[in-house]
Amino acid sequence: MIVVFLGPPGAGKGTQCKLLVDKYHLEHLSSGDILRAERKQGTELGKQAQSYMDAGGLVPDELIVAMMMKEIQARQNSKGFILDGFPRTLGQAHALDEALKKASKSVDVVLNLAVDDDKLEERITGRRSCPKCGATYHIIFNPPANDNMCDAGCGPLTQRKDDTAEVVRNRIKAYHEQTAPLIEYYRKQGNVHDIDGNAAIEDVTAAVCSVMDKL
Ligand code: AMP
Repeated sequence: MIVVFLGPPGAGKGTQCKLLVDKYHLEHLSSGDILRAERKQGTELGKQAQSYMDAGGLVPDELIVAMMMKEIQARQNSKGFILDGFPRTLGQAHALDEALKKASKSVDVVLNLAVDDDKLEERITGRRSCPKCGATYHIIFNPPANDNMCDAGCGPLTQRKDDTAEVVRNRIKAYHEQTAPLIEYYRKQGNVHDIDGNAAIEDVTAAVCSVMDKL
């Protein structure tokens, strides 16, 4: 099964994906996570992506499509995967459809997580994570017990460089201009399920699971 998770930055796609992966035994393929790993390893791709990511813009399609196709091809025999953050442009969606068609596959379901713009900035700029154990927090909605320290005793928390207010605005703009048109693209294919992402995490999970359980 191939699931595409659509939604603006800060909608909670990553959080929901983690829960889905465990429940439905699917693999989580996050283009943002893959790019951050490339940067950490100092690869050529990581270096090419850096300036776009830091400014909150999209990395060019040719780089992203090549990167994601490699990941998808490596999972040809997998039970299924959730694409989180990819595709993000119509060009990427076309490339994905073409590649899947060649393998006699297609996107089975598109989960469209919708969140009001005014909530996104607060959700994103409050995010913190532990660089050692990967635990995630939010300074208002899920604060650590001690200011800016990981509850597991690992040490100080960090903020993603592109989670600052100015960069977040660019990321939201990029979503509206380049990614939101994908909702209509997939609606024409008849496989979009709209989920209200403004709700509490567990209510969003319940809504997502009720779609997935029917498939
Ligand atoms: P994310 O973790 O999904 O918020 O992605 C972080 C950043 O990585 C984005 O702001 C983009 O610069 C870049 N990125 C991730 N996925 C894509 C994609 N599918 N197309 C272009 N750029 C991407």
